[in-house]
Amino acid sequence: MNTEQEAWAWTHQAIKKVQAENNRSADTHLYKVDLPSHWGVDLYVKDESCHRTGSLKHRLARSLFLFALVNGWIHQGTTVVEASSGSTAVSEAYFAQLLGLDFVAVMTRSTSPEKVALIESFGGRCHFVDKADEVYSAAAAIAEETNGHYMDQFTYAERATDWRGNNNIAESIFSQISHERFPEPAWVVVGAGTGGTSATIGRYIRYHGHATKLAVVDPEGSAFYPAWKNGDLSTVTGRSSRIEGIGRPRVEPSFVPGVIDHMIEIPDAASVAAMLHFTELAGMSAGPSTGTNLWGVWQLVAQMVAKGERGSIVTLMCDGGERYAGSYNSPAWLAEKGLDPAPHLTTIAEFFATGCWDEGRGSA
Ligand SMILES: *Cc1c(COP(=O)(O)O)cnc(C)c1O
Repeated sequence: MNTEQEAWAWTHQAIKKVQAENNRSADTHLYKVDLPSHWGVDLYVKDESCHRTGSLKHRLARSLFLFALVNGWIHQGTTVVEASSGSTAVSEAYFAQLLGLDFVAVMTRSTSPEKVALIESFGGRCHFVDKADEVYSAAAAIAEETNGHYMDQFTYAERATDWRGNNNIAESIFSQISHERFPEPAWVVVGAGTGGTSATIGRYIRYHGHATKLAVVDPEGSAFYPAWKNGDLSTVTGRSSRIEGIGRPRVEPSFVPGVIDHMIEIPDAASVAAMLHFTELAGMSAGPSTGTNLWGVWQLVAQMVAKGERGSIVTLMCDGGERYAGSYNSPAWLAEKGLDPAPHLTTIAEFFATGCWDEGRGSA
C-alpha cells in the first residue's frame, strides 16, 4: 500500500509527463484550400491528423487524463477504461502507456482493424460489443471489475477542455487565421461525436464576441440532429453511426445544443463522396467524418456565393484516410455496405462548375 505522500508524488510526476508531452508537440496546420477565386470565399482546413495519435482525439485524451489526474480519479496502477468508436481509444492508449497504466478500450465490433491495431500498438487491450449503445455499460462494468477508472469521454469532453482559451482548438484556429484577408470566419463547420469540439468552439466564439457562426454536421441515424431540431435531449435512435467518430445513438452529455447556430443532416454516401473528392481537390487523404464536414461546407459556400457574401469558412480534417484503407477507401467495401458515392460526386462536380448547390440532381 502506498503512503499518501508516495501517491501524491506519482500523480505529480504523471501530470508533469502529460504537460511535457504537450510542450514537445507542435500545433496542427491550418491549410488554405483554393476555391474558384470569383466565389470570394476562402476555405481553411485544420489538419488534426498530424497529432502523434492521428486525430483530434489527441487533444481530448490529453485533457481527459489531466482532468482525471487533478481530480484524483487515476492513481499509480489504475486500469483506465473507455467507451469509444476508436479514435479516442487510440489516443488514450498512447497516454496510458506514457504513464505506465493499463488501458482497455470498449468498442463495437465494426471498428476499423487499423484502429484496433493502433490501440494494441500503444499497449491497449480491446473489448468488443455488438451494438453502439452497449459500450457505456460494458465500459462501466470492466472498470468496476478491475477496480479501475471509466474515463467516460461522452460525459467529460465538454468540461475537461478549457473553452476560454489555453491553446484549445478554437484559440488555435482564430490565431492561425488572424493574418488572412477574412480573419473572422463566417462559419466554422464541425461534426459531433462527444460534442466536445463543437462545445469548445461555440463557447469560445461567444466568449470572445466573434460574429462567426457554428454549423454542426451530423450523419444518418444520429440522435444529435433530431434532438437539436426538436429541442428534445432525451431523443434516442439507438442506431450505430456508419461514419466513424461522429453521430451517436443518444444525445451525449457533452453535446451543448445552445452554442450551435445551424445543423445539417448528411447522407453517409455523401460524406464518402466529399471525402474522396477532397483527395482530388487538396491532395490530402482524409477520413469519412472530414467528408461529412466538407459536404456541409459546400452547402454553406454555395449559400454565400448565391447571396454574394464574401468571407472565410473553417473546418477540420479530423483524421487521415490511411485508417480506412480497408473500408471507406475500398470500393469493394463501399459496395458491400450499399454506399454509392457516385451521384453525390456528380453534385459536387456540378457545384464546382456552377457555384450552385443542387442536391436533387445528384441524388435523384
Ligand atoms: C471524435 C471525432 C469527431 C468529433 O469530435 P467530438 O469532439 O468528439 O465531437 C470527428 N471525427 C473523428 C474522426 C473523431 O474521432
